[in-house]
Amino acid sequence: MFVSENLGVNEKGHLTIGGMDSVELAKEFGTPLYVMDEDLIRKHAKAYKNSIDKFYGGNGLVCYASKAFCCKEMCRVMKDEGIGLDVVSIGEMYTALKAGADFDKVCFHGNNKTDEELEYAVDLKVGRIIVDNIYELERLERIAGEKGVKVGIMFRIKPGIDAHTHDFVKTGQIDSKFGFALETGEAMEAVKKAIECKNIELKGLHCHIGSQIFDIAPFIEAAEVMLKFIADIKKDTGYEISDLNLGGGFGIMYTEKDDPVPYENYMEKVSVAVKESCEKLGIKLPYILIEPGRSMAGPAGVTLYTCGGVKEIPNIRTYISIDGGMTDNPRYALYKSEYDALVANKADKSKDTKVTIAGKCCESGDLIGEGMPIQTAVPGDIIAVCATGAYNYSMSSNYNRIPKPAVVFVKNGEARIAVKRETLDDIIRNDI
Ligand SMILES: *Cc1c(COP(=O)(O)O)cnc(C)c1O
Repeated sequence: MFVSENLGVNEKGHLTIGGMDSVELAKEFGTPLYVMDEDLIRKHAKAYKNSIDKFYGGNGLVCYASKAFCCKEMCRVMKDEGIGLDVVSIGEMYTALKAGADFDKVCFHGNNKTDEELEYAVDLKVGRIIVDNIYELERLERIAGEKGVKVGIMFRIKPGIDAHTHDFVKTGQIDSKFGFALETGEAMEAVKKAIECKNIELKGLHCHIGSQIFDIAPFIEAAEVMLKFIADIKKDTGYEISDLNLGGGFGIMYTEKDDPVPYENYMEKVSVAVKESCEKLGIKLPYILIEPGRSMAGPAGVTLYTCGGVKEIPNIRTYISIDGGMTDNPRYALYKSEYDALVANKADKSKDTKVTIAGKCCESGDLIGEGMPIQTAVPGDIIAVCATGAYNYSMSSNYNRIPKPAVVFVKNGEARIAVKRETLDDIIRNDI
């Protein structure tokens, strides 16, 4: 009935999130509101961590891709669960720093890191900088030299795998802005260059083939391609790569059409494939890193809105207008991503209509979805959009000078603010 396991209905017929009444949450904190279920986040963190322990002897690290949902409280929860962090900008590094992150367990990604960001990462002793191109390698060698330190890196490799997902979230194919190509010899050249660098320690290789992927096969294929390259490097140079980072991209359920695999199955199957490949290729078992983002945060989130109006256009469609929209959830406008929605105060009723949920921005494309099955709504109803924990708050904007909603964490029947609602003064904070 619900797309996330933490959702339910109480005796008032209200949607519950982690056991808490969503209508009460809307009343207490206002709308729009991001609600994150901390228990579910922790459950997923444990599932990933346990899968590496169980199937790979604990010889690996889970790094949460913080771009999916980044705030200090999320970084703290991850640290508490023994999970590292992926960061992709100085802003994410700063957030991690202020949350007390362990930088040894941080991976710094990006296809165009600035000198300022590289220096910042080196100063913070980021455990692994994922180098995207030769120019970055040269700059990092110089920066590390100036600071008199040795920096641990991994290379971002394009394994040439075509994952079956949306074009905008595919990243493993040759035509991608990320990383080094294997088949042109570019990657091998970079490896040889890194081995020669005095201030760089080449720890490993990284690949990330895309996002919202439901098959395990492309992940296994990518791992095999990467291991073959590790064997080629050993043959060519004698250098043994110790770490293999297989990225993230595990799919979640947004609507009933989605059928995600349990995260444990991924590590179970990948471990077998990695062990077989290593034996065949005569290389040692690598330390494995995985980087789930969406699957860690996505299912744990629900966004609550207030319905401000219902506009029925006969024989065409019915619009429900909400007090948020593309400013808090731009994913339909960006990718036509589908969501499951319901009227939170009528969650025990059947979904008897289909609507288009429209935001309040001055854009016709400001929609949360079209043809969405939902209970009949009237102004004042609370509209819940499910599985919004990832790539919603982190992609939010102030378009139309709309203040960003608050983020509330719920845990053990208690709700607390993790990110305050923006005020009007926040909106003009930097205006002169
Ligand atoms: C975005 C990203 C991830 C996380 O992807 P999800 O689909 O959210 O799991 C992991 N690694 C890298 C390098 C990324 O860019």
